[in-house]
Amino acid sequence: TGTTASEALATLHRVFGYESFRGEQEAVVEHVIAGGDAVVLMPTGAGKSLCYQVPALVRPGTGVVVSPLIALMQDQVDALRALGVNAGFMNSTQDFDERRVVEAEFLAGELDLLYLAPERLRLDSTLDLLSRGKISVFAIDEAHCVSQWGHDFRPDYLALSLLGERWPDVPRIALTATATRATHQEITERLNMPAARHFVASFDRPNIQYRIVPKTDPKKQLLSFLREEHPGDAGIVYCLSRNSVEKTAEFLTRNGIEAVPYHAGLDAGTRAAHQSRFLREDGLVVVATIAFGMGIDKPDVRFVAHLDLPKSVEGYYQETGRAGRDGLPSTAWMAYGLNDVIQQRKLIQSGEGDEAFRRRAAQHLDAMLALCETVRCRRGQLLAYFGQEADAAACGNCDTCLAPPETWDGTVPAQKLLST
Ligand code: ADP
Ligand code: MG
Repeated sequence: TGTTASEALATLHRVFGYESFRGEQEAVVEHVIAGGDAVVLMPTGAGKSLCYQVPALVRPGTGVVVSPLIALMQDQVDALRALGVNAGFMNSTQDFDERRVVEAEFLAGELDLLYLAPERLRLDSTLDLLSRGKISVFAIDEAHCVSQWGHDFRPDYLALSLLGERWPDVPRIALTATATRATHQEITERLNMPAARHFVASFDRPNIQYRIVPKTDPKKQLLSFLREEHPGDAGIVYCLSRNSVEKTAEFLTRNGIEAVPYHAGLDAGTRAAHQSRFLREDGLVVVATIAFGMGIDKPDVRFVAHLDLPKSVEGYYQETGRAGRDGLPSTAWMAYGLNDVIQQRKLIQSGEGDEAFRRRAAQHLDAMLALCETVRCRRGQLLAYFGQEADAAACGNCDTCLAPPETWDGTVPAQKLLST
């Protein structure tokens, strides 16, 4: 209705200080305020948070946000409080007293937004608490974590299917930046949201220039790339192993580019320190495994570099999507060699999981290989993977458009190597 629309817009102006909604935001917000369920697929940086924050503020009660990003909850809540929103969180980093304060605020109806780690929602004590207060909306952020096939799978997300049964009158909104049809379907099924309306934004990120170069001496190639194109810029360098993360960070630092490592083998304090330096300082480079990046909202990441092949196109898209959230020109650069593919093939064959799991992993790798080997527009190939049409046959802002490869068919030697 018109009232809902104007209330939503008024909240956007008054609380968040923004002129207007972007893209699908407005349609999502109005649908959820009216009590509808929604599944929202939007690329990283498109503004998924407002899709649940505005309804939480407009509808009576507390918006309950499920998020796996425990390390970011404090920051998110602080940022909301700075805007005058009464936000709180509950996760394992809190002590008993801190949690009790949040519980009391929730029961008193004083909270606009309550962020919860998914494992908390499995606890009877949490469900009991929630049933004693008033909830305006359930938001399930990073909803692809419910997918067993993705690298972000969280078993605790499976329990979220209960929310609809326990709170049939509370709208639910699931949000993700992972857009393949399989994941999309899995989210809808596993979260038990058959009646949800689906909102799918364009996944094109026109300001990101995609480039994939043949891998010869990756650390040196990276260094020249950074010196020539991104001196003094903030960015992320992804490596597969902890060891190469450490070595690459050292190498860059030794060569005058300030870089810090980030991987799951570092203690929590070091990781938190490196992450917050990256967010706060200008021009810092983080060299990381894929443990780094989900949920990070730094607008001026000017490049994302891959020294090793991502395991899937989804992963590649998510990781490169952390560049250029401010809309300014940015680069997604990757050094790619067939040896990476062969190595990953071996890892899949000898690795964990049942036959079906290994087959999926191999399919994901094949799609990634196809993106690397294509002689056509990379953006077009990327969007086609997500089932979306590119606006033009050639984007003009990827390596294959800027310097069309010779029509030597690179896929023949690739297939030969892989069929062994
Ligand atoms: P996502 O979760 O989709 O990756 P976020 O919700 O973190 O994205 O938003 C990304 C950035 O875009 C944030 O800095 C946010 O404040 C900004 N943003 C979102 N919506 C709008 C809007 N309508 N107008 C201006 N800025 C917006
Ligand atoms: Mg987000």
